[in-house]
Amino acid sequence: MLADLKRAGLKLTPQRIAIVREIADDLSHPTAQALFERLRVAFPTMSFATVYNTLDALAGCGLTGSLNLGGAVRFDPNTEPHHHAVCDACGMVVDVDVDVAIDAAAPATLSASGFRVLREERIYRGLCDRCTS
Ligand SMILES: [Zn+2]
Ligand SMILES: [Zn+2]
Repeated sequence: MLADLKRAGLKLTPQRIAIVREIADDLSHPTAQALFERLRVAFPTMSFATVYNTLDALAGCGLTGSLNLGGAVRFDPNTEPHHHAVCDACGMVVDVDVDVAIDAAAPATLSASGFRVLREERIYRGLCDRCTS
């Protein structure tokens, strides 16, 4: 991811490298605010704008996904096509694998209207294991 970022023309400052490391294996779909609060411990001078702009740049060149669930944008290091399941009680977001072959089939009404489906993103809502028990 760091090499890709460099190729995209972003200077790799120590702060940016830390941001990339932080998002790279965080599968909890954190918001920029959540990452900022974590990173501030090690980088007290880091600004929220630096965190947000770096994440935005990563998303802009397709190195992270972004997920809009109505609140603040969440960032997602998983750039493979996938769906999400969201817990209504605690807000936890988990990845759901997709069967690309099945999901690529667009509803007939859409195809008939001339709309070209490029991808499908589903959101399953419910209660996670912890919130059910
Ligand atoms: Zn939950
Ligand atoms: Zn995801």
